[in-house]
Amino acid sequence: MLKKIPDYHMHTPRCNHATGTIIEYAQAAVDAGLTEIGMSDHSPMPNGFDKAWRMDESELDSFLEELETAQTQFQGQLEIKAALEVDYYVGAEDYIQYLAKYYDWDYLMGSVHFIGDWGFDNPDEASRFETCDIEKAYCDYFKLVELSAASGLFDIIGHPDLIKKFGYRPPQGSKAVFEAENTMLQAVKKVDVALEISSAGLRKPVGEIYPHESIVERAVKLNIPFAYGSDAHSPNEVGHAMAECLNLLHKYGATQISTFEKRQRHMLSFLS
Ligand code: ZN
Ligand code: FE
Ligand code: FE
Ligand code: ZN
Repeated sequence: MLKKIPDYHMHTPRCNHATGTIIEYAQAAVDAGLTEIGMSDHSPMPNGFDKAWRMDESELDSFLEELETAQTQFQGQLEIKAALEVDYYVGAEDYIQYLAKYYDWDYLMGSVHFIGDWGFDNPDEASRFETCDIEKAYCDYFKLVELSAASGLFDIIGHPDLIKKFGYRPPQGSKAVFEAENTMLQAVKKVDVALEISSAGLRKPVGEIYPHESIVERAVKLNIPFAYGSDAHSPNEVGHAMAECLNLLHKYGATQISTFEKRQRHMLSFLS
């Protein structure tokens, strides 16, 4: 039997593409039988980076106030962890360090949504897959995920093969992509950061959990810890396909899931 585990990935309307108050996410979690969630809205980034899809730095305080109010209201019923989904790109490191010190976060999730100036997970920019070298795009993507892990700035690496979102695939059996994934996993292992297992891909054209089975298999073999996230952008998505994600981990021998408190990781058995 599978336990209910924390859902560590959800957004608020501050990112301009999510709906629901933190209280509404919390209530949805309680209704789904969860005892812990983490709010991890898209963080501010410097110099107007991807400005339309994230909170502004001026909204951080209201985010934290709303979070603390919800924490008080749900005390004894639901733990609500304070987190951010932070974009990783080369050059953002100093700003991410500034964000890390801004508050006593429970965890920071690092996500790659851009290859250079290409927001590859943005539906408006997906047509670029039609003309680009897909194998190279995958290799470039996994290199950035590797660097995000190696930066040591994060506790969890978000949706670690997001590049597949729209279903564009590299040539089957691509050695280059397999090796890029392996190098990424080695960096994750070395820095001892957790990977996210995310149900969001099931709701996207690719129709598949992030990351794909072969990455899960190799990661579990390396003893890399996983945290679960639905990437809910509305309260009805909280806890989405949790059992499917846990079953995939369990298929390859994992029995525990990561939780975080003040940036310390704890491992929790998901079997009962
Ligand atoms: Zn989002
Ligand atoms: Fe993301
Ligand atoms: Fe997200
Ligand atoms: Zn996301």
